[in-house]
Amino acid sequence: MTLFKQGWRASARQKQQHLESQSLWRERRTVASAQQPFVQVENEWLTNFSSNDYLGLAAHPLLADAVSSASMQWGVGSGASHMVCGHQNIHHQFEEELAEFVGAERALLFSTGYMANLAIGSAILEKGDLSLQDRLNHASLLDGARLSGATLKRFAHRDVDHAKRKILASDHRRLQLVSDGVFSMDGDIAPISELKKLSDRHDALLCIDDAHGFGVLGAGGRGTLSSFGLTPTENTVMVGTLGKAFGSFGAFIAGDDWLVEQLLQSARSYIYTTALPPTVVAAGRAALELMRESHTSLSNTLMANISQFKKLCADRGVKLMNSESPIQPVLIGLEHEAVAVSDALNEQGFLVPAIRTPTVAKGQARLRVTLTAAHTEFQVSALVDAMCKALAGVENCEQCA
Ligand SMILES: *Cc1c(COP(=O)(O)O)cnc(C)c1O
Repeated sequence: MTLFKQGWRASARQKQQHLESQSLWRERRTVASAQQPFVQVENEWLTNFSSNDYLGLAAHPLLADAVSSASMQWGVGSGASHMVCGHQNIHHQFEEELAEFVGAERALLFSTGYMANLAIGSAILEKGDLSLQDRLNHASLLDGARLSGATLKRFAHRDVDHAKRKILASDHRRLQLVSDGVFSMDGDIAPISELKKLSDRHDALLCIDDAHGFGVLGAGGRGTLSSFGLTPTENTVMVGTLGKAFGSFGAFIAGDDWLVEQLLQSARSYIYTTALPPTVVAAGRAALELMRESHTSLSNTLMANISQFKKLCADRGVKLMNSESPIQPVLIGLEHEAVAVSDALNEQGFLVPAIRTPTVAKGQARLRVTLTAAHTEFQVSALVDAMCKALAGVENCEQCA
């Protein structure tokens, strides 16, 4: 028994030492306040530029009120999975509201975007099918395809010609073309119109994971598809998540009736798990209501913060990536240097963690700056000042070339 444990511990220690030597050992920070631009981390207050709470709804009083009222009416647990007795009126209504909002026939709630993406692969594909995915797609999309037993291939980031060549070279039964709408670590947007054309030409199912576009892009926050004049209808499926711009938790898949019914019948990440708590659903509904009333003003503030950040960076010679979204990464390159810049920012009162491999490619470590509608002009300009100081302290980084 002891020997057995020692074996496991020794190999774990070896792995840890290796990761530590590469600046790749991860540590969590414990946040002692609600999710707002100013957060308490252990004993310090930091201005947070790393959250996905793009509209500043995570601590919004209207959502919090909706949750407490719902807890009085519905309690806090859903009691069971959707297929047993956990599917309550509030879930059903929210599905209908979400479907209507994004212009789909039907929507299905999932507990997380991760689980929705597992379903997108595993419940739809079979052995012999091809799941063709952008190289920078979210890990959960890749996992979903792997679970299905279908062939998984990847095309170069946003390269529709490469995708086409992969299709022509492949001998598959059915084809699924999969892309993030807004890429989570780069912030750029998928070439949706070209993907849609390619998808139609090859009779494929186009799946767009809009975790970072839903609530932000498109008319009223309807998402990336909407910003290209499309809806999740026949042969196009959308995954939206509720833990980012929508401020709370959960996810949904929207699409045609047949597709949603197929997911309901066979998606293991839908069937074998407890339905979302009704309180969480209430938060999602409150966010949707708020979106209908105030998306324009929230979005205007967010977009103004993005423009201000981009302009200040351009003025000060800080190179950004090709992104129009709230995700504005600053590429550093080496892992330990990204960590050094992040630490230097921390010392100046800013929270911008370094993103490293395997989340991004090795040697492409970065600060993933995210802007929200809750940031002030002053906070944005103070961040850029602090970034310039922090970057000046690092030799040989991409930014100082
Ligand atoms: C965050 C994220 C997910 C997962 O969503 P959760 O609801 O947090 O599980 C899926 N896809 C992308 C692109 C994401 O960024």
